Amino acid sequence: MKKFSRILVANRGEVALRIVRACKEMDIESVAVYSEADRDASYVRLADESVCIGPGPSQQSYLEIPKIISAAEITDVEAIHPGYGFLAENAHFAEVCRSCHIEFIGPSVEAISSLGDKAKARELAESVGVPCVPGSDGVVTEENDALAIAQQIGYPVIIKASAGGGGRGMRIAHNDVSLVNGFHAAAAEAEAAFKNSDIYIEKYIEKPRHVEFQILADTQGTVVHLGERDCSMQRRHQKLIEESPSPGLPFEVREKMGECARKLVKAANYYNAGTVEFLVDHEFNFYFIEVNTRIQVEHPVTEMVTGIDLIREQIRIASGEPLGYTQEDIRFEGAAIECRINAEDPDHDFRPSPGTIKEWIPPGGLGVRLDTHVHAGYTIPPFYDSMVGKLIVYKKNRTEAISTMRRALDEFQIEGIATTIPLYKEVFKHFHFLKGNINTGFLEEYFLG
Ligand code: ADP
Repeated sequence: MKKFSRILVANRGEVALRIVRACKEMDIESVAVYSEADRDASYVRLADESVCIGPGPSQQSYLEIPKIISAAEITDVEAIHPGYGFLAENAHFAEVCRSCHIEFIGPSVEAISSLGDKAKARELAESVGVPCVPGSDGVVTEENDALAIAQQIGYPVIIKASAGGGGRGMRIAHNDVSLVNGFHAAAAEAEAAFKNSDIYIEKYIEKPRHVEFQILADTQGTVVHLGERDCSMQRRHQKLIEESPSPGLPFEVREKMGECARKLVKAANYYNAGTVEFLVDHEFNFYFIEVNTRIQVEHPVTEMVTGIDLIREQIRIASGEPLGYTQEDIRFEGAAIECRINAEDPDHDFRPSPGTIKEWIPPGGLGVRLDTHVHAGYTIPPFYDSMVGKLIVYKKNRTEAISTMRRALDEFQIEGIATTIPLYKEVFKHFHFLKGNINTGFLEEYFLG
């Protein structure tokens, strides 16, 4: 076992700050890398050292592997934390780290390759008896094969990119014509976005819930799940509100899903943190959709209900430490909800709203956590995603958590940019949301249609 003394954070924004904070608490020095657009960011100031890695556009900075590795070598770090997005699920980057003898804080290169490819992950899930959405056996390359599969499973179907992420490269088809069009469009979009045109086909489940399980696994083979997060509140397949536990999910279903999640990652010899995602239909049948081989944006809700610091655990696991606990030791308490505060205008089709934040008075009080890198006077660079923070509440039960979230949203004063807060204020009053009657079509049906 090797305790790290210095870690490089290969990311920006709130997650970079989150990792710098964890390092401080663990008595580990942190090195921030930043683009010219992030020069004045708070995480850069708080890190022990910082290195500029180029101009604003991420292709020339946060995605440039040679620059990140040079920064790691100059500052003599033992490990790199990739955060989420950017290089976090890039097997090549993990491999370069390995060949440079720098620990990649995440799973092995092999696990990223086998689980990060959605079509391959589906095959592995099927081979170990984890239920999958009915669909193609692996990648589909011919139009005629796509038509035959759709005939067999029945419309509607969803065409998905093997390398997909962030809701991109997906098309829903209700008939042969839209299937053929969607087939070519999805492949082209996947090629443009991920440099990989592989696509596969699944049955399109109508109005499912998105329920995912947080996994932690050490290099000695202990695998635990830390319960689920319900991420059904989405816009265009992108999550906006996440919560744990999933409202109304029966105990036995949760147990079975957790066991399936553990079984799947064990089969991939997985270690570090990961998430196994499922869709759940209205009869509580569940189907595996994908594994995210990294820490996720919504990890704080799991931290609140389990009391486990996930970034700290990632760092411990990467240093070779055993988890030190088993599934029986994990306790779940209370309810947590997270809202992603995006600099987007919900009144104008969520168009991005970059600019300078003139006023920023965050909420506080019992049960409120805010993970953010921004402050009054901060200018949101135009190059990156639009999330400016995550507002998380934690209370004894869902009803109390909702009251706290309403109060916190009301308190939050932001001037100078538009945000998604006005939408959330409405959602947290909505009859069906209060009842826990949610699904992935909820926001479109009641608010965005
Ligand atoms: P990404 O990696 O791009 O986020 P996912 O496979 O995780 O893609 O799916 C994202 C979202 O797309 C899901 O949460 C769900 O809303 C929708 N989705 C994906 N597959 C299906 C399916 N077979 N049926 C219905 N909706 C789906």
